[in-house]
Amino acid sequence: MKSAERFPPGATIGVMGGGQLGRMFAIAARRMGYRVHTFSPDENGSAAQFSDCATAADYGDKDAVRRFAGGIDLLTFEFENIPTETIAWAAESRVVRPRGEVLHIAQNRLREKEFLAGAGFSVAPFRRVRNASDLTSALEAIGRPAILKGGAFGYDGKGQDRIEAGDDAAALWAERREECVLEGMVEFEREISVIVARGPAGATGVFPVCENIHRNHILDVTLAPARIAPPVESAARELACAVAEKLDLVGLLAVEMFLRNDGELIINELAPRPHNSGHWTIEGCATSQFEQHVRAVCGMPLGATDLLRPAAMVNLLGDVWSDGEPNWPAALSETNVHLHLYGKHQPRPGRKMGHLTALADSVEAASAAALRARERLR
Ligand code: AMP
Repeated sequence: MKSAERFPPGATIGVMGGGQLGRMFAIAARRMGYRVHTFSPDENGSAAQFSDCATAADYGDKDAVRRFAGGIDLLTFEFENIPTETIAWAAESRVVRPRGEVLHIAQNRLREKEFLAGAGFSVAPFRRVRNASDLTSALEAIGRPAILKGGAFGYDGKGQDRIEAGDDAAALWAERREECVLEGMVEFEREISVIVARGPAGATGVFPVCENIHRNHILDVTLAPARIAPPVESAARELACAVAEKLDLVGLLAVEMFLRNDGELIINELAPRPHNSGHWTIEGCATSQFEQHVRAVCGMPLGATDLLRPAAMVNLLGDVWSDGEPNWPAALSETNVHLHLYGKHQPRPGRKMGHLTALADSVEAASAAALRARERLR
């Protein structure tokens, strides 16, 4: 197995994880002539619906993982929280991109921060917290307000507590009792993210920097391009490439950053896979993040990442269904708005069910159209 091995169309790509990222990956890969075999514990999940073949099994089921590996040419991921040993079972017989070590770093907040800080990248001040006395000393070192986050990655800000002056930290710890990270609050002007693809021979393709607006710790709106000065844009792109390089990543990496008022970029989080803030690339870029992921892991030349038109993406959470089936015709009466639904059957509040992307002559106009369309759904 050569590390720079190429997998041309016709190959079968195995994907671990069964959500919407795998679904959009499968759509891109199959359009290009690849076969897609997904592996996830969910029966008939979002990704399985668009795959040639789907295995529904637990990540701890060694026989199922080995059988799955036997039927694919290479393995990639749409979800980083795959147990290390599961990846090792597949790696016995197949090329795995990105490699298991990259997922191992990205699936734990503390490891990720230690990796980034150790490599000289700027992150918010942080301390490991394993008990009440760690928390007391961490608060003394970092100060308040601070944020206590679970050490293992939860999704979308779940498991985060802001600790203000006067809050009873001991009581908060009593509710948690799991390894945590205490982080200093970063005062930021904007949140941005950069998605970079890197091939097996080290070629990189960086997408335009986008700007993210969160609501209740969940991404709500992405604007592309980000409303930032050109030198910040260049610095953000270079930073994302440098992290991908340091990880020796093959595949896709999303780097979430805070842009501070003084212009400094602080890395918040890494995701070694397609990212919610890159969904707009399906319509807004010469190559989508999903096609680029396919190209990168298959060792094919990367596609152009030029912005075609300013874009805005708004997420559709289960809350949109609170009054019954959304009014799709009303939303689609905005002619430059595109609908993506993920095939999920239960629209629970906070669950990502789909998204809308609008293209226009400016990000402001695109954002207004996307928000208007979402408003009309209810
Ligand atoms: P996370 O799950 O770490 O990505 O956090 C979700 C959101 O919480 C971020 O996108 C920010 O809006 C906010 N947040 C997280 N960490 C910090 C921090 N250290 N300082 C300021 N805001 C933060």
